[in-house]
Amino acid sequence: MTAASSPWHAKAAKLVFNGDAFIGGRYVKALSGKTFDTLNPATGAVLAQVAEGDQADVERAVACAKQAFERGTWSRMAPAERKRRLLRFADLMQAHAEELALLETLDMGKPIRDSLAVDMPLSIGCMRWYAEAIDKLYDEVAPTAPTAISLVRREPLGVVAAVVPWNFPMLMATWKIAPILASGNSVILKPAEQSSLTAIRIAEFAAAADIPEGVFNVVPGFGETAGRALGLHMDVDCIAFTGSTEVGKYFLQYAAHSNMKRVGLECGGKSPNIILADAPDLDAAATSAAWGIFYNQGEVCNAGSRLIIEAAVKEQVLEKVITVGRGMRVGDPLDPATDIGAMVDAGQMKRVLQYIDAGKAEGARLRLGGEQRVIGEGCFIEPTVFDNVNNSMKIAQEEIFGPVLATIEVKDVDEAIKVGNDTIYGLAAGVWTRDINKAFRVSSALRAGVVWVNCFDHGDISSPFGGFKQSGSGRDKSLHAFDKYTDVKATWINLGA
Ligand code: NAD
Repeated sequence: MTAASSPWHAKAAKLVFNGDAFIGGRYVKALSGKTFDTLNPATGAVLAQVAEGDQADVERAVACAKQAFERGTWSRMAPAERKRRLLRFADLMQAHAEELALLETLDMGKPIRDSLAVDMPLSIGCMRWYAEAIDKLYDEVAPTAPTAISLVRREPLGVVAAVVPWNFPMLMATWKIAPILASGNSVILKPAEQSSLTAIRIAEFAAAADIPEGVFNVVPGFGETAGRALGLHMDVDCIAFTGSTEVGKYFLQYAAHSNMKRVGLECGGKSPNIILADAPDLDAAATSAAWGIFYNQGEVCNAGSRLIIEAAVKEQVLEKVITVGRGMRVGDPLDPATDIGAMVDAGQMKRVLQYIDAGKAEGARLRLGGEQRVIGEGCFIEPTVFDNVNNSMKIAQEEIFGPVLATIEVKDVDEAIKVGNDTIYGLAAGVWTRDINKAFRVSSALRAGVVWVNCFDHGDISSPFGGFKQSGSGRDKSLHAFDKYTDVKATWINLGA
């Protein structure tokens, strides 16, 4: 099938775009009346005008969210009823999954195949998982002396602001909003300015699922205005942030300068993927390494951007990585045969190309790609592989967030661990070996929130995700996510009186 004949172009032509904010149970314009353009990065065309929420809109959303929380229609609702409504929310997302996938692809450039097969099922599955979890969680009774009972209960925090990035717009949003809502909080979702459309669209489903007005709000807008206003707001009780380490640090400052709100941070990464000479299947390891960096245009927080290979097998592995990368199809995200779509915008494309220049300037050897792929006005970059990288180089230390792999040769497992940990980040890591003792030793030694053994980027909603070091704090996914959105209260009942 050629791109032009892809049915997705015809479906895209029929889409209706809504760029409004959603506050207090209805769609509204920004109070300033301002909007900004959201572009399709594959073509450069304007898709829609999005409400430019700022301080005033944040004030309005926080007031609605706080009132809703205090009314208790959601926060004190029986968990089984919250579950029922969240499942309905998920059902509505499911019923519109194709439309949401299309919006996602048009808005941020990822292949439609991935939006359909990965982003939507995982997002909907996440909503369902937290909905199902909430009426199965028991609180505790402390083992005190019989003269007292201490009830140890989890209570929702209040108003939680979820500030999310553009690389998996729907999935990163649902990793936040599902546990936030399930545990009884009100939420204000601020999508990234590059990719607001799916967040805005699902607000209607929340309302249709009878999530009470004011409990679920969406304020699109820029980070420096809307994001900052949420971070500094005295009535926002918690920030649930996913994004860069740089902006994560701003949120810590905002919290310090306002009300010491809880801050959960899912930030950047520079993940080592270590292939040892005794890997069970070197070809499989190399294929996985290629997908581990090129998937989603390399715009993945846990991308295996540093490929650390034991010298004895380096050339063999690298050749396979290059073959796989060369075979990937770069181009029209609406073509179901596309492997690598468009970078999210021209700014990100430029940033990645600058890193490629830096790699060349620092003496790394370019083995694949390294150029923009010019297709109309779109933002495309070829899968790129650098060899002979030294871990102190810029391309090995800084998060590029593009399809650029840095290959580092090491002499043995000890050097692999040392190099793997020589980074400010600690989000994820991989190790490939057939030796179970070595696998356990390396995975224990690596300072990362997730370590994959003989695979890369595998996961399940039941398994926690988050970072060590400057990759953040707190965990998304799994029951651990509830830790971020609840406070523990001990109620001490004296029985001795
Ligand atoms: P970003 O930090 O630039 O933006 C993230 C969000 O923060 C956006 O909504 C943005 O509007 C807002 N923001 C930006 N500047 C702000 C400011 N000064 N004050 C308040 N809010 C502000 O990140 P991005 O470019 O959208 O996404 C890429 C980054 O996200 C990468 O670093 C990637 O590693 C990270 N990420 C991490 C995870 C994870 O789970 N750890 C997952 C996905 C992405």
